[in-house]
Amino acid sequence: MSLGEYRPRVLLVEDEESFIDALSIGLDREGFLLTIARDGQEALTLFGEQTFDLVLLDLMLPKVSGLDVCRSIRHSSNVPIIIVSAKGEEVDTVLMLELGADDYVTKPYRLRELTARMRAVLRRRSAPVAVGESDELLEVGPLRLEIDSRRCFLNGVEVKVRKKEFAILELLLANPGRVITRDHLINDVWGSDYVGDTKTLDVHIKRLRNLLEEFPKEPRHITTVRGVGYRFEVGA
Ligand code: CA
Repeated sequence: MSLGEYRPRVLLVEDEESFIDALSIGLDREGFLLTIARDGQEALTLFGEQTFDLVLLDLMLPKVSGLDVCRSIRHSSNVPIIIVSAKGEEVDTVLMLELGADDYVTKPYRLRELTARMRAVLRRRSAPVAVGESDELLEVGPLRLEIDSRRCFLNGVEVKVRKKEFAILELLLANPGRVITRDHLINDVWGSDYVGDTKTLDVHIKRLRNLLEEFPKEPRHITTVRGVGYRFEVGA
C-alpha cells in the first residue's frame, strides 16, 4: 500500500504519555494521521463520532478496558484492530482474536515492527472485497460465493462444495484476513450444542483445500493459525 497520498486515520488508544509522545512523532513521520484517546470511554466516543482506518488499542486503560473497547467496536464495525499489551501482562491471545482483534503486539516494541503490522492489517482489509447489491454475493480474491443458491466459484468456475463446507467458507470469506477461531467455526457451522469430534472441522478444511488450493498441503488461501483457528488470506 502506498502511503504517499492517503494518510490512514488511526485511533490511538493509550494512557501512557511517554508512548503517546513517541507514537505521535513516529507514526506521523510514517504517514499515519493520529487521533488520541486517553481512556476506553474516550475511545468509544471518538469512534462513534469519526471514521478510522485502524485502531491501535492498549489493553490496560482507565474507565473501560481494552478488551471491552474491542468487543464494543466489533458490534458495529469491521475496522482493523491491533491490541497492544505490556510485557508481563496476562494476555489471552485466543480471547483477543475471538473478540475480533486482528493482531497484537507487546510493549516494548520497535516502531518499525509496529508500522509493519499496521500496514499488513490495512493491506489485508483493502484487498478487493465485493458484496453484491442484496448481500447475496461474497467475493474475495479468486473465490466467489453466491449465498442464496449456495454456489461456489473459483476463478469463475463452479466448484461443488457441501453444505457445511459452504458455511465454513462463508464465515471465512466474510472476515477476510482475520483469524476465525476453531470454537467460532464449530459454533457457527455445527451449532453451540455440538458434542462431536472437533477433528470434523479439520476434515472439512482438508476437503476444502483439496478443492480450492493449487497445493493443498501448502495452502495459500485457507491458512492454519496454529492453536487458534483458520484464516482466509487475501491477496494470496
Ligand atoms: Ca495502559
